[in-house]
Amino acid sequence: MTATEVPVAAAPATFESLDPRTGDVVGTHPVHDAAAVEAAVARAVDAAQWWADLGFAERRNRLGEWRKALVRRLDDLARIVSDETGKPLDDSRLELVLAIDHLAWASGNAEKVLRRRKVPAGLLMSNQAATLAYAPLGVVGVIGPWNYPVFTPMGSIAYALAAGNAVVFKPSELTPGVGVALADTLAEIVEGRPLLQVVTGFGETGAALCRAPGIGKIAFTGSTATAKRVMAACAESLTPVLMECGGKDALIVDGDADLEAAADAAVWGGMSNAGQTCVGVERVYVVADVAEKFTEHVVAKARALRPGGNPAGDFGPMTMASQSEIVRRHIDDALAKGGRAVVGGSESVHAPFIDPVVIVDVPEDSSAITEETFGPLLVVNTVPDVDEAVRRANATGYGLGATVFSKKRGEEIAARLRCGMVAINNVISFAGIPSLPFGGVGDSGFGRIHGADGLREFTRPQSVARQKFALPIAVTSFKRTSRGMGALLGIVRLRHGR
Ligand code: NDP
Repeated sequence: MTATEVPVAAAPATFESLDPRTGDVVGTHPVHDAAAVEAAVARAVDAAQWWADLGFAERRNRLGEWRKALVRRLDDLARIVSDETGKPLDDSRLELVLAIDHLAWASGNAEKVLRRRKVPAGLLMSNQAATLAYAPLGVVGVIGPWNYPVFTPMGSIAYALAAGNAVVFKPSELTPGVGVALADTLAEIVEGRPLLQVVTGFGETGAALCRAPGIGKIAFTGSTATAKRVMAACAESLTPVLMECGGKDALIVDGDADLEAAADAAVWGGMSNAGQTCVGVERVYVVADVAEKFTEHVVAKARALRPGGNPAGDFGPMTMASQSEIVRRHIDDALAKGGRAVVGGSESVHAPFIDPVVIVDVPEDSSAITEETFGPLLVVNTVPDVDEAVRRANATGYGLGATVFSKKRGEEIAARLRCGMVAINNVISFAGIPSLPFGGVGDSGFGRIHGADGLREFTRPQSVARQKFALPIAVTSFKRTSRGMGALLGIVRLRHGR
């Protein structure tokens, strides 16, 4: 047993991860019960102290070695992702490339963002030296989804480690193998210390992680419904949470947009990974002047896609078989309410595969507009102007990402969107820029991974005020005099009262 392998009961229950394209068994993993999860967290407490004591420079070195090990094993890891999710190998490689780049940024910038720095003490407290530092929380529990089983959890894992924490990671039951492989690559570099441990199993294993004594924070990525359960469990021990949930992202096409580029972004943003992307494009609002031309481009591009289980295809199957029924329901509801299918239709759903579907003129009360679809279904609705596009884009409880195609007004439109991230004249570009925080509002969650905010998310600010010299007027002492108070009030009237 390696230091990162979590011990289990003598005869543990196990479960299998399957290739969704074929049903073949990819791997067998233990179901970690509450006792095993608690033991993992207890072991992580010591590892966290060791890691914190190493300091920024040594942590950066070790994470740099991890980064190199991930690059060396990139193809092996990508194959596991592909086998467990069914996505094409190059999509899996891309996920790893982005995660490695984020790891480099997080480890390279942790000291600059988190080290103790001087802050102004202000006139009234000018006898004090004020400093602020961001200290690690200890053990961070990371609960991840299956759709991007490396990129998404690494947004928490890499930043939490760079900030000086140990991590216990619960991957989705559909993608446990790649979680274990990630931890194995780090174990060699941290002298077998249990700095990143993986607990495998079902929802109950994740729930046990939320309740485990010693957890400093839970970073959850998954559906909004599960996020509420996680928050409720964490409320019992006042454990703080970071919530990265679902989305219903819109793409807005302005009248002056490059229509070919906008259509390319809509189809890739909506269909890549078979639409199973939290920041995938689910709704398009295109202004009337250019709607016909834009839709022609979308139709041509969607028809040209080669979906299916072929490793070199454009996208694979639904990773979670039950999702097919949700996608079918959204297609049927959109058509029943008056939407018009211009690519595919109900017949495109042949689980676990779904061929591209594009439906235009879908009423805004259809489930394809109001609920997260998470499949290769793109809704394209025509609007009279950008104001209406913005209004509709914002008319959802979700608020994760958005895309704007406009030559002249990109930033102006972006500023009016109620969401955490906007890509202008490209799609999902914000996710690949490590210095940009990633996260949503409303039903899409709160808190941020990536960037300086993503590092601070896994720390506690610690404020220190050190007295440099005693002031002649002491007002926070029982030696206080009315003359001293009068002088203080005089200063305040001069400084703040005019
Ligand atoms: P789920 O909410 O079903 O599961 C997420 C994780 O939570 C899984 O590891 C799951 O384990 C675990 N879990 C389930 N029940 C509990 C519980 N009671 N307590 C603690 N943990 C639990 O989401 P999916 O895996 O289906 O992921 C898809 C969702 O994730 C979509 O809504 C998508 O939009 C969102 N997502 C958001 C992203 C973002 O950054 N905002 C990025 C990627 C996806 P198990 O799998 O074993 O049930």
